[in-house]
Amino acid sequence: MSSSVVRAPLIAARASPARARGARRLSSVIVAARASSDARCFVFSAHRYEDETLRRALPNATYSSARLSLDTASLAQGHDAVCVFVDDDARGEVVDALAERGVKLILLRCAGFDNVDCERARERGISVLRVPAYDPLSISEHAVAMMMSLNRHLCASRDRLRVGNFTLDGLVGSSMRGKTVGVVGTGKIGRGVAEILKNGFQMRVLGYDKFEKDDFCGDYVSLDELLARSDVVSLHLPLTPETRGMICVETIAKMKEGTILINTSRGLLVDARAAIDGLYSGRIAALGLDVYENENRLFFKDFSSMNTNERMLVWDETMAILGSMPQVLVTPHTAFLTHEALDEIAKHTAENFRQFCAGERLEGANVVVDASVSAASTTT
Ligand code: NAD
Repeated sequence: MSSSVVRAPLIAARASPARARGARRLSSVIVAARASSDARCFVFSAHRYEDETLRRALPNATYSSARLSLDTASLAQGHDAVCVFVDDDARGEVVDALAERGVKLILLRCAGFDNVDCERARERGISVLRVPAYDPLSISEHAVAMMMSLNRHLCASRDRLRVGNFTLDGLVGSSMRGKTVGVVGTGKIGRGVAEILKNGFQMRVLGYDKFEKDDFCGDYVSLDELLARSDVVSLHLPLTPETRGMICVETIAKMKEGTILINTSRGLLVDARAAIDGLYSGRIAALGLDVYENENRLFFKDFSSMNTNERMLVWDETMAILGSMPQVLVTPHTAFLTHEALDEIAKHTAENFRQFCAGERLEGANVVVDASVSAASTTT
């Protein structure tokens, strides 16, 4: 997967001869530090919550709250790298637009890279680096928090408090002990969920994964068996052509009556309309979504100050239905949002940038595309 090619430092290629001579005398560490401070990085989708972490780790970058899209790619003009997040759009035509503006590197400050056209990036000589893991337990804990909130009706209780309603009807939950959780995708996050629920709640744990792991604390079964036996189903898969729409009319029909379904992975794993039908039929008792199929248009934005006409242009009927259902909890892609995870993201993003600028060998799980080597090195 990794390349044995060591690229020329990005900055040395454009430095003056005197500076290049000086740089050669320095240790590689110092060269790397100088290179990374000279190369220019444009950060898209910068949020205030990253002030204490990313801005400190990449102090010389240009920050913008704009989301990367075909309309905003021109902002990267004159920058060597762009730094993007999960909802930035780096489809083929956007990659082309970045390449035409001299961008050589896409730095993902997340693990998933389904929002980047990796083949186009390679063709256009753009490398893609990511943060393969950042405190995975933060996401596991959020998934567990969602299932507990739904199971014990915490949001409904909170809503009642606001209007002075302290009654109990409609708030009966179930004990988790002895129930069965089905973990779909037993990678870092899924295994964290399994361990919390097995050790902390004494739940029975079933797992489904294309590549079974020796250290999974539950029993592997087929997806059909998992769906049929689980009281709670939690999704922890990457978005790929294979996993897209995995939870649909057919798979929901295979679930146990009254399942709690949690998705903290990628929105397109779940057909939200089919999930709504499942909620109406009772097959799904409660639905927790930290990700949503149409989140690019909604998440990280504030629609509250828009007038009705403006809001209707962007509003989403499926989300409106989900938002009206008391047994649905939607969080706007916040599962990763802990101090620990933000620190890790900032640290690894800055290190990815430094390595690339210094021309160091790109290897390891952080490399999605090393544009200096053949197609075989693209991570799948
Ligand atoms: P991981 O790579 O450690 O685990 C993914 C697991 O899915 C692996 O065990 C893999 O074998 C399995 N898998 C892949 N394709 C499969 C298929 N077709 N069928 C069955 N199993 C399959 O990843 P992770 O760190 O556990 O993260 C899981 C997902 O969580 C990520 O892909 C990302 O989409 C999502 N995520 C969400 C947030 C958030 O804030 N909501 C944060 C980080 C990651």
